Amino acid sequence: MNPQLITNQTILITGGAGFIGSHLADRLIKDFNKVIVVDNLVTGSMKNIEHLLSHPDFKFIEHNVSEYIKIDDDIDWVMHLASPASPVDFEKLAIPILKVGSLGTHNALGLAKEKHAKFFLASTSEVYGDPEIHPQPESYYGNVNPVGPRGVYDESKRFAEAITMAYHRKHHIDTRIVRIFNTYGPRMRVDDGRVVCSFLYQAINNLDITLCGDGSQTRSFQYVDDLVDGFVRLMGVDYNFPVNIGNPNEFTIRELAEKIITLTKSSSKLVSIPMPEDDPKRRRPDITLAQRLLEWQPKVQLDEGLYKSLEYFSSFTNVR
Ligand code: NAD
Ligand code: UDP
Repeated sequence: MNPQLITNQTILITGGAGFIGSHLADRLIKDFNKVIVVDNLVTGSMKNIEHLLSHPDFKFIEHNVSEYIKIDDDIDWVMHLASPASPVDFEKLAIPILKVGSLGTHNALGLAKEKHAKFFLASTSEVYGDPEIHPQPESYYGNVNPVGPRGVYDESKRFAEAITMAYHRKHHIDTRIVRIFNTYGPRMRVDDGRVVCSFLYQAINNLDITLCGDGSQTRSFQYVDDLVDGFVRLMGVDYNFPVNIGNPNEFTIRELAEKIITLTKSSSKLVSIPMPEDDPKRRRPDITLAQRLLEWQPKVQLDEGLYKSLEYFSSFTNVR
């Protein structure tokens, strides 16, 4: 399948003032689309989109999408990215996370139905929980603890996938679901708590690097430009089931810390902190489907992506 180019469309992005959403907005504007961002700034920032505010094809609306979403414009796509995404927020923002995954997804689907628009859901590799199958293909149903601290996020995304498929089947909405694996890059909040931005900040400032447990757990890290390219390709094909988008190169968290210390020429030391409950032991996407369906392949490997992120994170010194 050769993905169609997405251009001349009006695209509403919930969560578009966040890390991924703002990069997506940049790409869609570059491809001559109109973009409307709806965001309540709970974890996002106006800084991420301030360069777009004066663009004639860009509009920002501050709104919590867990409440009814009223939009006057015609819309071709609703892309639902709104949700806090860092494990440190799973406790602090437990109920807003459950609401935006359930009520927010329902409202975003309702908007797509009203506008006869297509719908795109940003789901997550967390639907696989602490996986018993490695690497994880889309056919794996996952191993999620619904009542653990991560359950609020994992189950809200699992519900979001279920209601998206229900709207597809019942209301014939043309839907896409992307399961995003760990993604990093500029515009992640420096105090977001996720591992790449935490370690970069710590290393740049010669602070202790906080390794959860012994750091032998693994993740597979994807640079944000590769993810956005996967999104746009998925929009351009006719496929309604979930698709993994991630970089299959897998690293232990200790290896990540060591790479970042070398890259930043830091004097930081590794210190072990307690392992969070239900922290997945390993994670790596099976991207066979994306390769075949989207002719997509991640291009930016970890060393290059960390290097590209360094300038952004270097502008934050001792902000915490
Ligand atoms: P982020 O926190 O930078 O962005 C999320 C955005 O959603 C923020 O701007 C926030 O203010 C907004 N938001 C949250 N709740 C809202 C609400 N109720 N109404 C309106 N806006 C709201 O996080 P991100 O990493 O850019 O994540 C974007 C999406 O991608 C999320 O849905 C997340 O679950 C998903 N995802 C991200 C990753 C990753 O590694 N970054 C991995 C898997 C899935
Ligand atoms: N982690 C860590 N130190 C930190 C933050 C995270 O060792 O300061 C570990 C965490 O326990 C997990 C991995 O890094 O095993 C990735 O965590 P992150 O919060 O980035 O995302 P997750 O993949 O767990 O959703």
